[in-house]
Amino acid sequence: MNKQSVVAKKKFGQNFLQDESVLRKIVEAMPKNSHKIVEIGPGLGDLTKFLVDVKSVEAFEVDTDLCKLLQSTFKKEIDTKRLQLHCGDVLQAWKSTLIDEPYDLVANLPYYIATNIILKALADPMCKNILVMVQLEVAEKFCATDGEKVFGSLGIITQSVGDARLITKVPPTAFDPQPKVDSAVFLIQKSRDRSDTEFEEMLRVAFTQPRKTLMKNLSSKYEKPLLQEAFKELGLTLTIRPHQVSTQDYHQLYTLTRSLDGRRETRGTK
Ligand code: SAM
Repeated sequence: MNKQSVVAKKKFGQNFLQDESVLRKIVEAMPKNSHKIVEIGPGLGDLTKFLVDVKSVEAFEVDTDLCKLLQSTFKKEIDTKRLQLHCGDVLQAWKSTLIDEPYDLVANLPYYIATNIILKALADPMCKNILVMVQLEVAEKFCATDGEKVFGSLGIITQSVGDARLITKVPPTAFDPQPKVDSAVFLIQKSRDRSDTEFEEMLRVAFTQPRKTLMKNLSSKYEKPLLQEAFKELGLTLTIRPHQVSTQDYHQLYTLTRSLDGRRETRGTK
């Protein structure tokens, strides 16, 4: 099998990036540091070629046909350990960390599992930066800040661990085959570890019905008097919508409801 005879497999989200100017933009946006690069889904190896020129790369590819092709294309780099190639599903390989040394994730992700991969990378203490191509709509959610319509739990989780910014939008014509949607490359530079799961559960509840008030959403799970007290202390109005509250206020709301709850329990047991 050679590169020309490859037929893209839809089930693996294969849209190969053909536009060299976008490949160059990705490489230029890479944070300058000594971390290893992890690439998820090297595909035909077009991005990989640029990456191994700059750094050591560890790559994960699920498609066995493409894996064989990559093994022959990158024989020299594999022999010299510049490239370590794992053939298999990256989600199966991912335990609490994906590899056991600090790394930056750089990839044109398979869109059907992109959000899941980014959330795993945000939670992975070995992952230091995330530079990925995804659907534009998904990139906008991760990069959103409070007040924007698309601000939600993905934006809050991202802001809780670092900063995100859009690098470039990419039209369908940059790929073969062309996806139906616009894409974008964005960068998350992590400076803290991901927040705890209870905080994220509160976010899930907060955004269950994004157009309703935050109070209405949260009171489906948390005690209303407790919430009213916390809202008052933080100066949040009872009519505020979930996307209008800042990441910092969500963290304070979380801390406050827990401490008020604790105080109430202590009082109750006296
Ligand atoms: N990096 C290549 C490029 O930019 O042209 C290919 C990108 S393509 C959008 C996504 C790649 O991810 C495909 O090669 C696909 O086979 C691979 N892939 C899909 N699901 C995967 C999984 N669970 N684990 C590892 N690789 C996966």
